[in-house]
Amino acid sequence: MNETRLLILDDDVAVGQMMQDVATTAGMMARYTSEPAEFFEAVERWDPTHLVIDLRMPQMDGVEVMVRLAEKGCAATIIISSGVGDRVLDAAARSAQDHGLRIAGILPKPFSPKALRTLLTSSPAGADLDPGSQKSSRATFVATPENLAEALRSEQIIVYYQPKVECLTGRVTGFEALARWLHPEFGLITPDKFIPLAESSGLMGDLTYRVLDLSLGFLARHFNGNASSLGTKSLTSVTSRLKVAINMSPQVLRPQDFVEHLVDACAERHIETYQLILELTESSAMENPVESLAMLTRLRVRGFHLSLDDFGTGYSSMLQLVQLPFSEIKIDKSFVMTLNHSSESRSVVRSIVSLGQSLGLQTTAEGVEEIETLEYLKQIGCDIAQGYKISRPLPEAEIVSWFKTHCRNGYWKG
Ligand code: C2E
Ligand code: CA
Ligand code: CA
Repeated sequence: MNETRLLILDDDVAVGQMMQDVATTAGMMARYTSEPAEFFEAVERWDPTHLVIDLRMPQMDGVEVMVRLAEKGCAATIIISSGVGDRVLDAAARSAQDHGLRIAGILPKPFSPKALRTLLTSSPAGADLDPGSQKSSRATFVATPENLAEALRSEQIIVYYQPKVECLTGRVTGFEALARWLHPEFGLITPDKFIPLAESSGLMGDLTYRVLDLSLGFLARHFNGNASSLGTKSLTSVTSRLKVAINMSPQVLRPQDFVEHLVDACAERHIETYQLILELTESSAMENPVESLAMLTRLRVRGFHLSLDDFGTGYSSMLQLVQLPFSEIKIDKSFVMTLNHSSESRSVVRSIVSLGQSLGLQTTAEGVEEIETLEYLKQIGCDIAQGYKISRPLPEAEIVSWFKTHCRNGYWKG
């Protein structure tokens, strides 16, 4: 039987009852409690398919509740709700996912009945447990070449976009495209779980072309030409020069027709080649320096931008690196994220920025999570910032609305 049993944990009686009403009106079974102890008992006995958990409660916070649920191998689909900020909600959802819980979404308070209904009806029940049968242990996600190939065919590989902004003004210069696997059963899967597999199983070319296609489409739809989806004429001047950056594995660069493929893909979407940034890590650029130099030069000649990703983590010789025709250095986030607490990180970042300046390269700091980091980057003359403080990577529709709000607020001035 596939019926929804919803269990709600919230210390606010009015909110709890409202949720219960919404669910029962939609034909679900729903229970509500404000007591963690009672909640855990109901999880055991009633075996709910869905849970709504309030993050902030007097007796026990929601994160603790979720850690306990994970320990019990809870297979229910979880909605996290709270009045705390979006960042905290996001962090809680990530932490829960890392613990192996199944998260349907977050519900920032105050919320509308409709928002709750949408989350409940769009998220299928977790493992469908037949009462009486032995509890099946939760299936774990394993990527195989076969299911990744299938995911590529059935368009489960999607792209999230993270903005890059000028440190000084906050003006958006473009977005980095980051691959995600939207799995019908396991939800959103991050690239660390499938990029290495794509590389070892010969699927990296297909994956990169898919990311490229989606990213160019995204740029063309929202930010190029008349940028119709933004709906505001005055934004078009700011948007006309936005760029999109995609990550490149060395094996994708090798085929001889690669450069032509990129040129054609841009032309089809009326995107100028300078609007596409290819990000390569220093180790991949140095894998075969002679071949890389030729290929990278061809790309630069055609107008593409090249970015040296994760800079500072490799061991290549500085001399070899600076001879490659990069246009941007991306300072690795391990240094940026620790700026405020480590004088070593500050020294590393400062010297990379001045190296970039003296070579005429744009410097980008990724992993900007705090306002103090941004202040420091401004002081030392770093050009571009990217990180959770500005925005997390978001799906297409959400990044477009983030962009509109960011512009409406006058960048940093807002
Ligand atoms: P990357 O190229 O270094 O991408 C930046 C990573 O840092 C992203 O992780 C992003 O979500 C994360 N990040 C951004 N700002 C912050 C911050 O403020 N704090 C923290 N803690 N993290 C931040 P993500 O999306 O999980 O991607 C991981 C890696 O997977 C990427 O690292 C890239 O190497 C690889 N990847 C993603 N998409 C593709 C792709 O289409 N092709 C290839 N070849 N690799 C990809
Ligand atoms: Ca990157
Ligand atoms: Ca990076």
